[in-house]
Amino acid sequence: MSEPTKFPRTWTNSPLARIARLVLGNKANVAMVIGQTVHLSGATREEFLADAEWLAHERVHIRQFREHGFVPFLWKYLVESARVGYFNNKFEVEAREEAYRLTRGKR
Ligand SMILES: [Zn+2]
Repeated sequence: MSEPTKFPRTWTNSPLARIARLVLGNKANVAMVIGQTVHLSGATREEFLADAEWLAHERVHIRQFREHGFVPFLWKYLVESARVGYFNNKFEVEAREEAYRLTRGKR
């Protein structure tokens, strides 16, 4: 399986990301990966791509979708979120740690 593209497809002003943003307490901006597309609300594509750690984080989710398959990943992600919450969700932990390692971990 090939690596996901470095600059993924984005959907700005996504209604889905807008809903997520409201659910998360009206955060300033939200990115949400659905399949291989990064849905954005409150950020332009340029702002998103310029933030190396943010981009790296969402690229991990794109890879997770590819590795698990679309429906299985959505299901596992929701089950995991219901079980341990958003922050401790193992898919979020993986994305957070890998993005940190790739962008801030190496000096
Ligand atoms: Zn995430």
